[in-house]
Amino acid sequence: MEEPALVLEGIRAGYGDFQALFDVGLRVTPGEAVGVVGPNGAGKTTLLRVISGMIRPTRGTARFGEVDIAATPAHELPASGIAHVPENRRLFPHLTVEENLKVGAFIPSARKRFAERSEYVFNLFPKMAQRRHQLAGTMSGGEQQMCAIGRALMSSPRILLLDEPSAGLAPIVVAQVFELVKRIRDEGLTVLIVEQNVAQVLRVVDRAYVLDAGRVVAEGASADLAADPAIRNSYLGGH
Ligand code: ATP
Repeated sequence: MEEPALVLEGIRAGYGDFQALFDVGLRVTPGEAVGVVGPNGAGKTTLLRVISGMIRPTRGTARFGEVDIAATPAHELPASGIAHVPENRRLFPHLTVEENLKVGAFIPSARKRFAERSEYVFNLFPKMAQRRHQLAGTMSGGEQQMCAIGRALMSSPRILLLDEPSAGLAPIVVAQVFELVKRIRDEGLTVLIVEQNVAQVLRVVDRAYVLDAGRVVAEGASADLAADPAIRNSYLGGH
């Protein structure tokens, strides 16, 4: 089966009367890892919410292969291959690691493959296998992030949307999370990752979009963006 591309054109979206995104265009081709970076409040989370169907754009088109995202109920999008690891992880703290993984495998096709998928996740994160019976809420921030990514991988997604996976984690744990993202990407999964940690995410992704005040203000290959003086000054602290 040909892998689908994610294509957004002219997306406007917001909350009530407040417009958070202005004519945003974005493309992620199969097998790519793409970053969306930008300051607080730029609209990065809102963009991921549009792609996972949590909010409807007021204008523009969003397609994942043949799937018209805006015309598909959000609960049907996981079956189209879209998996979202939301901001702050949103694990079920009073469920065990394994039970959280079960939640990630709620679509019928994934439920059938639970044993195989959980083996894949436990292989990717051996620590999760050791902790499978531990309540998710009692794990460290880094472990919870791994569990949230593992949960998203349970549905065998064709694109993984990651919202600030490094948020609130100690630098050494941040490095581990990015290493994992790189591994997932190297295994061929398409990844779209939102980050404020611009320097580190540019080392992991192929291309990135810079979002500022709801608009795409720059896009390009990671190496080009990392070398761009304007980007360095605005987002990399001039270093
Ligand atoms: P951050 O890194 O701080 O989360 P962001 O780039 O992800 O920033 P968004 O969370 O998408 O930005 O927010 C974009 C704008 O939309 C902000 O002005 C924010 O206040 C507003 N916003 C976000 N969520 C809501 C909501 N549920 N209701 C109303 N306004 C919202």
